[in-house]
Amino acid sequence: MTFESLGLAPALLRALTEMGYAEPTPVQAAAIPLVLEGDDLMAGAQTGTGKTAAFALPLLQRLGVDAEFTQRNQIRRPRALVLTPTRELAAQIHDNVRTYGKYLRVRSCTIFGGVGMGGQLQNLRRGVDLIVATPGRLIDHLQHHNVDLSAIEWLVLDEADRMLDMGFLPALKQILGALPRQRQTLLFSATLDPAIKTLAAQFMRTPHEVQMAAPNAIAAGVTHRVHPVDAERKRDLLLHVLAADSRRQTLVFARTKHGADKLCRHLEQHGFRAAAIHGNKSQNQRTRALADFKHGKVTVLVATDIAARGLDIDQLPVVVNYDLPMVAHDYVHRIGRTGRAGAEGLALSLVSREEEGLLHDIRKLLGQELVIEPVAGFEPTWTLRQDRAGAPPARRPSQRAGKPRPSQHVRRGHAKNAAEATLRPANPAYARGPQAAQADAASRPRKASRNHSRNRSWAKPQPR
Ligand code: AMP
Repeated sequence: MTFESLGLAPALLRALTEMGYAEPTPVQAAAIPLVLEGDDLMAGAQTGTGKTAAFALPLLQRLGVDAEFTQRNQIRRPRALVLTPTRELAAQIHDNVRTYGKYLRVRSCTIFGGVGMGGQLQNLRRGVDLIVATPGRLIDHLQHHNVDLSAIEWLVLDEADRMLDMGFLPALKQILGALPRQRQTLLFSATLDPAIKTLAAQFMRTPHEVQMAAPNAIAAGVTHRVHPVDAERKRDLLLHVLAADSRRQTLVFARTKHGADKLCRHLEQHGFRAAAIHGNKSQNQRTRALADFKHGKVTVLVATDIAARGLDIDQLPVVVNYDLPMVAHDYVHRIGRTGRAGAEGLALSLVSREEEGLLHDIRKLLGQELVIEPVAGFEPTWTLRQDRAGAPPARRPSQRAGKPRPSQHVRRGHAKNAAEATLRPANPAYARGPQAAQADAASRPRKASRNHSRNRSWAKPQPR
């Protein structure tokens, strides 16, 4: 299939060719014709599937045709609104909109917090066709009567699941109340769970449903490894793991903003080029950190969950959970950065005794075992047992009897039974011990590797 066959305008096709997009991704092939038809759409598609272009291209096409006829001095009222949970996502989507629409006369702007309202107000006064916004700041502008949403014809709810997780439902309702009822609504969400469907039922007209990947799917090429470690040795273990291949672009997840900052400083003190990204950083700092990471100026990006959500980072070889997420579902979002497009990926979790319960939740959500591999030289003073991770055994008769539950089977060859974690040597150099890893690291040039390949193999749609 080609973009041409989807009926896109020459101005868009030209921009796509310049970007090197050879063919539509499955979500684009499914969504673009429906959106051009004017139908409502609910798509289960994660970051990395090409979902931004799936809504941006048809919107630009619809807006672009009219924009050609809009007189120069006529004040434009926004006709399309994209709502997204984070500033980074809003900025990223807007960048994409501008790139795809470079040969069209569509005006767009972003509205998000963390920066002054003045510039946004100026853009709104000048008149725009399309707004990409986070809900909180858009409501600020609504309350100040800075923005008139009564001419909106297209609404996109991007990362709808995350907006609900972040407590934006009241804000969404308020915004939806300011929009015309007669409009086209597109909803994109990593998962189409019941909460999302309830939302859709309230605000959409019999939407088409497209599911791009099974809920909670993690790329098949991802290897999950758990390194049990004493809490006070975690930082050293992280240094050790990173030193095993210091060229690798690595995304490290920390639970708190403060923790992310501390860890970043620690890494820098030990010679790593690191940057932190979290909610307390200014917009400029966040944008800079992300750009530096993407361009290989820093090799380790330490992030909190919310800051990292939806970041458009190209295929990463490894993601490290320095802290396990408090919510198991965030593990899926974190690991979504690796093993994309059929590539191999590695998800490493450094797990302290206090985190056994969190690990249990993750295993339950994934419905699969995670290989437990203590690292030589960093063995914990306690034993992480597959059947003990989580609730106390007293509440689990089947486990007391030593019988693994179906989701707790350990991979063949990794442990004798579910009650015993494997001590099988790990593949990475660092598992051979601190000296081996350092020797390996020293023998390699300290240069970031980058992968900007656009030749991805995309997830196949699974229409329901
Ligand atoms: P998204 O899921 O929208 O965050 O997109 C993920 C990445 O895929 C972005 O870097 C896009 O530029 C890229 N992309 C989107 N559509 C295509 C396509 N048809 N061909 C190649 N790359 C694409």
